Amino acid sequence: MRLMARAGLVVEQALVAAASRAVAGATTRDLDGAAAAVIGARGASPSFLGYHGYPATICVSINDEVVHGIPGGRALADGDVVSIDCGAIVQGWHGDSAVSLIVGRARNSGDEELVAATRDALWDGIAALARARTIADVAGAIEDAATFAGLVPVEGYVGHGIGTEMHQDPEVPNERLRGREPRVRPGLCVAIEPMLTAGGRGTVVLEDGWTVRTADGSRAAHWEHSVALHDGGIWVLTASDGGVPELTRRGVVPVAP
Ligand code: MG
Ligand code: MG
Repeated sequence: MRLMARAGLVVEQALVAAASRAVAGATTRDLDGAAAAVIGARGASPSFLGYHGYPATICVSINDEVVHGIPGGRALADGDVVSIDCGAIVQGWHGDSAVSLIVGRARNSGDEELVAATRDALWDGIAALARARTIADVAGAIEDAATFAGLVPVEGYVGHGIGTEMHQDPEVPNERLRGREPRVRPGLCVAIEPMLTAGGRGTVVLEDGWTVRTADGSRAAHWEHSVALHDGGIWVLTASDGGVPELTRRGVVPVAP
């Protein structure tokens, strides 16, 4: 768990570097370079690069893109909703986290609420893990937060266990799904990642074979943290404060592993 915590902090720093470059006129490749530099400087390696042939260090998904956008020459514009997803490996152990932000000033009404409510859904899901009997308790907390905000989880994309592989069992859905109720036990590490939209739930994959966007063109946001459940409690591995501010607000006191 110590190595996963180190991987988590590398991811956090890489995301901070990438997000700080997310200004109008910057290309998504600029963000990728910033994240790659941090990961390299820390002696870690990117989880995504080469994963099933994925060609970059991060995913940058803009506006109606939900996840898996490939960095390239596209320039960011004022008001874009940008989701940045990053993973890193330290001595074989993975961390995985994502943030969403708005470039400059919001252009569309509802964008700020979309980004903030998706972040709230993530933290509600993490807080639920501290008390969960099964993964369905986490999924239900995310679904409830989405519903409260008038948003829906996109169909077919879920969180996951994480450890020596980036994607392990169990799946962590963003809504209550019958028959998806693995028990929650100490030693579990999961990446919780709500992907929410104000529009329809359907998605399509672009011709690049990776980029997932909403079928109806509505904007989407994506937030993610890797979280450890250990004998003493929970700890957010991809946050240097372990998630203390957001979790104590929700009645959960994180405990360092
Ligand atoms: Mg991710
Ligand atoms: Mg993930």
